[in-house]
Amino acid sequence: MDLEEASKHFIHVYNRNIIFTKGEDVYLYDSNGEKYLDMGAGIAVSALGYSNEEYKQGLKDQIDKLIHISNLYFNEPSIKAAGYIAQASGLDKVFFTNSGTEAIEGAIKLARKYAYLKNKESKGGIIAMNHSFHGRSMGALSVTGTKHYRKPFEPLIGGVSFAEYNNLESVKALITEDTCAVILETLQGEGGIYPASREFITGVRKLCDDHDIIMILDEIQCGMGRTGKMFAYQYYDIMPDIITTAKALGCGVPVGAFAARADVADAMCPGDHGTTYGGNPLATAAVCKVFEIFQKEHILEHVNEIAPYLVEKLNLLKDKYGNIVKDVRGTGLMQGIELSIPAGSIISKALEKHLVLISAGSNIIRFVPPLVVEKEHIDAMYDILGSILKDA
Ligand SMILES: *Cc1c(COP(=O)(O)O)cnc(C)c1O
Repeated sequence: MDLEEASKHFIHVYNRNIIFTKGEDVYLYDSNGEKYLDMGAGIAVSALGYSNEEYKQGLKDQIDKLIHISNLYFNEPSIKAAGYIAQASGLDKVFFTNSGTEAIEGAIKLARKYAYLKNKESKGGIIAMNHSFHGRSMGALSVTGTKHYRKPFEPLIGGVSFAEYNNLESVKALITEDTCAVILETLQGEGGIYPASREFITGVRKLCDDHDIIMILDEIQCGMGRTGKMFAYQYYDIMPDIITTAKALGCGVPVGAFAARADVADAMCPGDHGTTYGGNPLATAAVCKVFEIFQKEHILEHVNEIAPYLVEKLNLLKDKYGNIVKDVRGTGLMQGIELSIPAGSIISKALEKHLVLISAGSNIIRFVPPLVVEKEHIDAMYDILGSILKDA
């Protein structure tokens, strides 16, 4: 099939020029049978790679039992999956969604409802961060810190103001009587791979405590083991009031969730929120399998073992091609290199050489490989990217 034909019936919001048909381990195969090394994992989703037998068998078994039942009833996989999330996060109560952006919507609604009950009136102010990314639906877009993503779709939800990430004073300066929540990624992804400083995260926690403000941490990309902890906030010895998760939560089956401390979660009552699909048996069977395989295959240990090797190799690229590679930053298997040139041209050349890379912002290449990546894959990536940077 040619690409013009493929594009014919799509609303054009993505520029794409390849059709992938199959995945195996950390490799993808296109419609011509060509093999590619994948350092993007479907945007930090396919943590287990593409052919984990236990994962696939778990889904097949669930398909044979029950694919969907509405939230008017319990289903077994969702009960188990909610328990896994609570246990891994240290939070108490979970609501399942179908995507990251919906998890953000729910988190915002919960924060507002909590403040509403506490103050007996609406209190809708939300402090978000510049360069943040929280999703594309109207509420999530309202707290996304890139002006040109928001502008064409205004008016968005009201009461949102933007602080500087890693600048505690800028958050403090925005707090008013009306503030109900601060929302931030524990490690900014889309905006350019910016890890949070300890002072910033602990400082925001304290500000929220002092002013009775809900702290929402968006762990949609940096959570689920990507940084070497199950959730990235576990590096900072704090507890958020609400978290959002998605991406690797189902390792490819669309599923997200938000989770909260019990007294916050209890602000919602029947009628306040809902979803037809969210947490259905197929999606949450995937979540269960992901947690079980993480345990069994020691995924966190593997990330902590392999990530320093990736960082070492990226730093080697910086040493060799310092005129182009300006910075290496990130945590665990969520790394970025900042370039002095647009990332797009490098990414296109990499694809021609059968290496799948993705960007974060205009001049940052983001490395979010399947968490099962091995040294040999990183070596292969290094060789291909090195040869491209050499000629750039
Ligand atoms: C991807 C992402 C989202 C949005 O998730 P979708 O599933 O695309 O709606 C929200 N927040 C962060 C940090 C993300 O990386």
